[in-house]
Amino acid sequence: MPPPPPEPAVRVDLAEDPHAHIVCRNCGRIQAIELTELDRHVLTELAARHPDGWSVDGIAFSATGACRRCREGPPA
Ligand SMILES: [Zn+2]
Repeated sequence: MPPPPPEPAVRVDLAEDPHAHIVCRNCGRIQAIELTELDRHVLTELAARHPDGWSVDGIAFSATGACRRCREGPPA
């Protein structure tokens, strides 16, 4: 087990853990992307760099692309 990442320097008050997903540009299908503890730490650090005057209550990473079904076409 690697050591746990350090606590974020700036705390953000999240209603739920950071999450990530990928969205198909063609059909709109959404699938979750698995996050590691380090991923969550990095996303939290990133969100903590928000502009002055903002609060943060959620973190979501979104990627876009094409799902397997759209890339491969209908089954033969
Ligand atoms: Zn698709």
